[in-house]
Amino acid sequence: MNRRLIDQYIRNEEERRRAEAVAELAARFAQRSERHDREGSFPFENFADLREAGYLKLTVPRELGGEGISLYELVGLQERLAYGDGSTALAVGWHLGQVLHIAAAESWPKPLFHELCRDIVRDGAMINAFASEAASGSPSRGGRPETTAVRTEGGWLLNGRKTFSTLSPILDRFIVSAYVVEEDRADDFLVRRSDRTQVVETWNTLGMRATGSHDVVLDGAFVPAEARIGKHDNASKDDGGGWLLHIPACYIGIAMAARDFALQFASTYRPNSIRGPIAELPTVQMTLGEIEAELRTARCVLYAAADRWDREPGNRANLKPDLGLAKYVATNSAIRIVDLAMRVVGGASLSKSMPLERYYRDVRAGLHNPPMDNTVIQMLAADALGEPR
Ligand SMILES: Cc1cc2nc3c(=O)[nH]c(=O)nc-3n(C[C@H](O)[C@H](O)[C@H](O)COP(=O)(O)OP(=O)(O)OC[C@H]3O[C@@H](n4cnc5c(N)ncnc54)[C@H](O)[C@@H]3O)c2cc1C
Repeated sequence: MNRRLIDQYIRNEEERRRAEAVAELAARFAQRSERHDREGSFPFENFADLREAGYLKLTVPRELGGEGISLYELVGLQERLAYGDGSTALAVGWHLGQVLHIAAAESWPKPLFHELCRDIVRDGAMINAFASEAASGSPSRGGRPETTAVRTEGGWLLNGRKTFSTLSPILDRFIVSAYVVEEDRADDFLVRRSDRTQVVETWNTLGMRATGSHDVVLDGAFVPAEARIGKHDNASKDDGGGWLLHIPACYIGIAMAARDFALQFASTYRPNSIRGPIAELPTVQMTLGEIEAELRTARCVLYAAADRWDREPGNRANLKPDLGLAKYVATNSAIRIVDLAMRVVGGASLSKSMPLERYYRDVRAGLHNPPMDNTVIQMLAADALGEPR
């Protein structure tokens, strides 16, 4: 029986086994989070542990040596990891999500994807896409990259600067979107780290401080012709962007940690103005109940969207509004839940000696991960207006 709320969406013994292993990692990472948040340092040791535990190959297809887990299970495991450390969960979520996306959308040339999977399984390699730029903003808004790709012998030369490049301290390869000047169109390229790529340590933010989301400068980085991703024989399938659910999963995991902290505090804090703990006060119970309502609703929407994506492979493109809605509901609920948890705890919640103020800063970042609120709302409106009448 699933006694704890966090366990409620576990469906079978295999999922339970993996969830328990991730809970152990999360507990270990929680011990390190305060320091990495304070220093804004990248938690290399967490990634060594994830590699050792086989976490990095979870979404690699089984036939290529991975675990081939479902999106539904990915959501559950990412929640659990974020419960211990939000930054690590978001960062590794981009990697796991990208692999799931490339496999589902068949968006890469096969040999390139097979090589990536081999390196993930064998060496614990990781991947992420660097698409954001200062001038073009979020790629989800359709801006043209200022990074350029110019043809050279045997491939392409890339020049430009990417912002928000999560995982940049640890990656040996990454996907870069660039404007192909001679074709007047944008495309993706797989770039290898070299002396022509440089990580500029700009990441000093309010929240998600340990994600290593620095700038990456490309100064004539060479990409061989076969590592241009967009040009290959298979037309890429629209997978609806289901992989992006790793993002709301992360913020709900942080919110759940805040909720559990508040419950524990309310059950044990006994100010001398009352007889028992503050959990017995009706006002505190009201706030705790509001947290439950937010959390349970958000998780319902999140897991339902993930489950539909898994079960309806032919319908994924049509699920986009529901997937976006899940992100919108979950990230906004996560912000409200952490806020309510801090109200339960009171002034002590502001203290740097407690994790709540970090949760408060970390969940805020969810608003600025794709798809953004206004994009989702517009998509829902367009979907409604597009209905036959
Ligand atoms: C913790 C974290 C990790 C991230 N990791 C990555 C990563 O690994 N790779 C990556 O590529 N990106 C990453 N991002 C970047 C993210 O995806 C966005 O690109 C970034 O947050 C900027 O988005 P924005 O909407 O604020 O930017 P902009 O698009 O510049 O928008 C700024 C504001 O202007 C308005 N606006 C601008 N253009 C439009 C428009 N066309 N229509 C309507 N409104 C508009 C919006 O109101 C918006 O609030 C990360 C972000 C965060 C916070």
